Amino acid sequence: MNTKYKINPPANETIKSYVIGTPERVELKIALDKLYHSQKDIPLIIDGKEIFTNITEECIIPHEKGHVLARYHKATEKELKMAIDASLKAKERWEATSWYQRAAIFNKAANLISGKYRALLNAATMLGQSKTAYQAEIDSSCELIDFLRFNTHFMGEIYNVQPDSTVDAWNRLEYRPLEGFVLAISPFNFTAIGGNLCTAPAMMGNTVVWKPASTAVYSNYIFMKILMEAGIPDGVINFVPSSGSLISEVCVESKDLAGIHFTGSTNVFQNLWKKVSDNISTYKTYPRLVGETGGKDFIFADNTANIDELSTGIIRGAFEYQGQKCSAASRAYIPNSIWPSLREKLIDAVSKIKMGNVSEFDTFVGAVIDESSYTKNMKYINRAHSSSDAEVIAGGSGTDKVGYFVQPTIIQALKPDYETMTEELFGPVITIYVYEDEALDETLDLCDTTSVYGLTGAIFSNNRYNIEHMLYKLRNSAGNFYINDKPTGAVVGQQPFGGARASGTNDKAGSHLNLLRWVSPRTIKENLYPPTSFEYPYMSNHQAEKAKSSGKSDLGLDFMSL
Ligand code: NAD
Repeated sequence: MNTKYKINPPANETIKSYVIGTPERVELKIALDKLYHSQKDIPLIIDGKEIFTNITEECIIPHEKGHVLARYHKATEKELKMAIDASLKAKERWEATSWYQRAAIFNKAANLISGKYRALLNAATMLGQSKTAYQAEIDSSCELIDFLRFNTHFMGEIYNVQPDSTVDAWNRLEYRPLEGFVLAISPFNFTAIGGNLCTAPAMMGNTVVWKPASTAVYSNYIFMKILMEAGIPDGVINFVPSSGSLISEVCVESKDLAGIHFTGSTNVFQNLWKKVSDNISTYKTYPRLVGETGGKDFIFADNTANIDELSTGIIRGAFEYQGQKCSAASRAYIPNSIWPSLREKLIDAVSKIKMGNVSEFDTFVGAVIDESSYTKNMKYINRAHSSSDAEVIAGGSGTDKVGYFVQPTIIQALKPDYETMTEELFGPVITIYVYEDEALDETLDLCDTTSVYGLTGAIFSNNRYNIEHMLYKLRNSAGNFYINDKPTGAVVGQQPFGGARASGTNDKAGSHLNLLRWVSPRTIKENLYPPTSFEYPYMSNHQAEKAKSSGKSDLGLDFMSL
């Protein structure tokens, strides 16, 4: 007990290549086959116990929508209340558990994912969320492992931060978890985000009710089972797939709500915030609201940009994972002088992209997540086809016969506030606005003010003066900013992630800044030299001094007359 433990700074998990002949490729194919040919019944997990409500929904494969991977059971009001109770019951013991014991569990979970469950979790993410092998590897393996390892390291560093003391007073900061439970609500697009939203508060001693996205239950459940194998005690994280609106009613209205760790769309987060405001006088403590939400992420090039680098940044930034990364580039500003050659390159690149089944390893683009995403994206694409303010220059079609396939699409907007320049589509669609080279400054203003979001952005330039100028002009337009790189692919420990404006509270997932939101510090002063009298030294001998003095100062001034 009487030892100050440390967790060494971790290294980022190495990304495996999955090239032909590698063992990881063989293992992944076996796992894909196994999951494809089995069907799971996924329960809720409350207080460490499996609960089957028999109110079920299907987990399907987005690129093969007729194939059911699993059925998951949904929580009703009763189970959500049970989950809150379980988390409150588990709290006392969990928050009193040494931080290094907690850290051991999460580091063990990271090792399980890095080792024996890597192929399984990647395969589940590929099938359930339609990610290619590489996109699954950087998400459900590498990013999730990094979240767990880096956050436990940051936790140790936070606890080390202590105030100054004197010989008389020993001052301490105690990093208490929040009073109540934390509600984690996660999106479909990253298995790692689901894993981070529930574990970051838990690491800091909180207990959690975790609602995964309905279209990511499949992979998220496997992660929950891995946490259990790593030794997470019963009730610390309670896994409760359910409807969003029910969560709002039951969990957000609970007086014990101590915080919400949310990632998803702006609209849902704003509604959660409103709901919290409506209930503000009923809570025991002010709930911490941490939300990372939507984006309208940009690429801005000047006329010194390298066309090959820019074209690659646009194609990868906009179309990897079907544009369903919150950081995906969805609008670009290109100067007139380089547009003809860039246009040609982009059209050529789109024609070479293979869209299809992600279990075929030459696929670059899979399916969008569900029917409503497909319908939304196709609606915008079809409107662009018939609009006089836009021209579809590449892609522009889709099919939902077998799965929800939206072709990677490039739209040229003929006015800067055309709808696809301003609204988040969350699909493989990028809109390009071509500006006159001399109008760089005005176009930077346009880029800054066209959307309500402020998540990610990238500039491409080889002019150092321009780079500095663009960085400054766009300083509030993105929480994650890239120079000569695509705006996606933030790495834990390297580029802490989050945006401001309508994109969220910018609490930087994967950094100590996020973990600080899950503690409520108590300042403790211990007096090592407690006084034994209420009088202060300057008060003693005053009467004797008074008798000697006649009211005149040593300087000869008469104070009474001043
Ligand atoms: P979503 O908002 O539809 O869902 C997110 C979660 O909220 C899901 O678990 C969902 O079931 C739940 N939910 C829905 N309605 C709810 C309600 N009324 N009350 C409580 N919970 C409710 O988002 P999504 O489609 O899963 O993810 C895509 C969105 O997430 C995009 O807008 C994207 O930009 C954003 N996103 C942001 C970041 C970031 O770091 N900024 C990261 C990933 C995704």
